[in-house]
Amino acid sequence: MFDKILIANRGEIALRIERACKELGIKTVAVHSTADADAMHVRLADESVCIGPPAASESYLNIPRLVAACEITGADALHPGYGFLSENARFAEILEEHGVTFIGPTPEHMRLMGDKIRAKETAKALGIPVVPGSGGAVTTNEEAIAIAREIGFPVLVKAAAGGGGRGMKVARTEAELPIALSTARAESKAAFGDDALYLERYLSKPRHIEIQVIGDGKGNAVYLGERDCSLQRRHQKILEETPSPALNEAQRKEIGETVARAMRKLKYRNAGTVEFLYEDGEFFFIEMNTRLQVEHPVTEMVTGIDLVIEQIQIAAGAGLSFTQEEVRFDGHAIECRINAENPTTFRPSPGKISYFHPPGGLGVRVDSGVYAGYTIPAYYDSLIGKLIVHGKNRNECLMRLRRALGEFVIDGIETTIPLFSTLIQQSDIVDGVYDIHWLENYLQKH
Ligand code: ADP
Repeated sequence: MFDKILIANRGEIALRIERACKELGIKTVAVHSTADADAMHVRLADESVCIGPPAASESYLNIPRLVAACEITGADALHPGYGFLSENARFAEILEEHGVTFIGPTPEHMRLMGDKIRAKETAKALGIPVVPGSGGAVTTNEEAIAIAREIGFPVLVKAAAGGGGRGMKVARTEAELPIALSTARAESKAAFGDDALYLERYLSKPRHIEIQVIGDGKGNAVYLGERDCSLQRRHQKILEETPSPALNEAQRKEIGETVARAMRKLKYRNAGTVEFLYEDGEFFFIEMNTRLQVEHPVTEMVTGIDLVIEQIQIAAGAGLSFTQEEVRFDGHAIECRINAENPTTFRPSPGKISYFHPPGGLGVRVDSGVYAGYTIPAYYDSLIGKLIVHGKNRNECLMRLRRALGEFVIDGIETTIPLFSTLIQQSDIVDGVYDIHWLENYLQKH
């Protein structure tokens, strides 16, 4: 087992990883920018290293500084969390060259899934159903129009290097396609330094359902059920739940087994998420994330499995601590992403938290990196915490969520807590009938 793990992240996820390390008796190193000197992940770690100024490119994304931090502290492994360098294959290779274990998949698998065109080809070859589309990169407008006619409008232009909903544009008609292509191309070039684009059929009312998998890299892989992440704004998830209100036992088992079988064939190592759109009883693969996801706690709540501990044990070569037959799904879990944002305009609201009272009680979990007196810096993502609630069934879970949201007090800044209090009173949410467009439609009307 590792002696010391460096956590190359910040905020709630850095703290989440620290907790797993502590339970395993592994020493932790926090890294931070100058803007994060007072952060909780720094305070709770055994050691910390300041790696640069606030800009992420100068700190959390700076590979030489992270490698130096490993060398100075003698860390023998690194956990990347999510975002930042978590899906950077070159980073994983450099770490290995320096004798530091990257807690994640092989660089080859990161590259494969990081390129969405290759990822789709691979998924298809492994027997996973995909969204009908161009099947490869499109270069000219003429080529795109010909393919779009075949797929049928509306079509979605997507970036091969895409992530976080960027580089994605809908073209409803042939006339709209050239503009969609040029906007997506410019956006992708600016965000990812890559402008390869592909086309997909634009599904009109799908749900976003993803399968959590975990593999040992030696051909053993297990699925841990699904998460329904259909409540989205601008292609960004807001609330996630498991099990999906849209699936029955047989459908869950079938898609889960399809994914686990594919991951066994691939000899996939690490926790991973295979994302699908689900419409009219059919699943369509959109992408695979080769890392821990923000919404992983809902899976942990219903399975009782600590995904970070499993990631660490797999990276150390100990394999998975359970078999598929041993996985039990117990009850229902919902996660709300608490962002430091105005709940109506979604404008970021950084600043000083004057009072912080997280909810507690049976079935309530708060993963957050903030405390009273802490100042949220303006430089990073606005996610400041997650409220996760577990119940025997969906109804109990909603009752508990209502109660927990009412107890949650964060003063001094604006947060999305009031939005969730309103949302969970809506009959569509209570009944579980919502697709990926539901929230945007709702926000337009209110
Ligand atoms: P990213 O990596 O940028 O998050 P994804 O491919 O995971 O991109 O898609 C993000 C979201 O965009 C999905 O959850 C869904 O809401 C929407 N989306 C993606 N592909 C399609 C499609 N073919 N039709 C309709 N919506 C889509």
